[in-house]
Amino acid sequence: MTTTTNKPKILIIYTGGTIGMVETPDGLQPFDFSHLMDNVPKVGQLGYEIDSVQFKQPIDSSNMNPQYWGMIVKDIADRYDQYDGFVVLHGTDTMAYTASALAFMLRNLRKPVVITGSQLPIGDTREDGTENLISALQVAAAKDENGDPMIQEVVISFQDYIVRGCRSTKFTSTGFHAFKSFNYPNLGTIDLHIDYAKPYLMRHNTALPLEPFYAMDSNLLVLWLYPGITEDVVKAQLATPGIKAVVLRTFGAGNAPTEQWFLDALTDAVNRGLIIYNVTQCQNGGDEQKRYYTGDMLAKAGVISGFDITVEAAVTKLMYLLGSGLSTADIKTYLTTSIVGEMTVE
Ligand code: ASP
Repeated sequence: MTTTTNKPKILIIYTGGTIGMVETPDGLQPFDFSHLMDNVPKVGQLGYEIDSVQFKQPIDSSNMNPQYWGMIVKDIADRYDQYDGFVVLHGTDTMAYTASALAFMLRNLRKPVVITGSQLPIGDTREDGTENLISALQVAAAKDENGDPMIQEVVISFQDYIVRGCRSTKFTSTGFHAFKSFNYPNLGTIDLHIDYAKPYLMRHNTALPLEPFYAMDSNLLVLWLYPGITEDVVKAQLATPGIKAVVLRTFGAGNAPTEQWFLDALTDAVNRGLIIYNVTQCQNGGDEQKRYYTGDMLAKAGVISGFDITVEAAVTKLMYLLGSGLSTADIKTYLTTSIVGEMTVE
């Protein structure tokens, strides 16, 4: 059950997304925050102190990018000490990428950053935005039995569930339960009460100051394998100018073709200094590169296993590590290490 001390202070950061959109002749478009809040007078009944900031031009989250992530991080970092928690209102399309990116960029985070949005705009006759916003505010305000923030990490709170941000995936474009964490238990359930899965919540032994990170490096690509992929297609992608890393979307437990041209192309790319990160196309489960001969061949070619990481977390983790100025050897070590709970390392 949610327990709050008197008057929690929450900052809402409105970036756009369906939650605040209005119908226009050209389709749904993001609108400003005051319109959104006018449609949810119930927020006042929470009795919280709520402030808000918004993107100058709210966006459909399909336009999200590392610069916008930096703006969200700055909004939080600049006001970190003034608030008990932060609610980020965001479109659902790239919410899982943003949740993963913020998890890496908000280093030493010890307060709740709760991301939510909706599948239908607030203000529509039938909609999911009001409930999602109110629940997110309650999650951001919740305290544990010691009076510490219940949530001390980036999470997505959406419909009935709270999930770890860097484990989340948008898995339906129509259902109200838009997000799932396939490889890590939900952090909470939102029904009559908000119940937290305490053993799975992030806890920290040290009280370090927040260290925001802004230098995400997006010089990478995602190479999605399929039966029949041609040598020309693979080689062209691996030869993309400027890229430093590749997320290789493999089959099943991290398997790929064993044709010689393919293995040679990967080995050549690794020898040229490219980092290749193995992330299965399966949403549930992960890579076990050593399980099959077909996966072991990848390991021998120098491909790094992503275990059970999501593609959203893999992409943003690489952006973070590439931007950190680390050596390739150090990046490879971090890729097989869980930094913020994004993967299960056996
Ligand atoms: N296209 C919208 C967005 O991601 C979808 C949504 O918010 O649900 O901004």
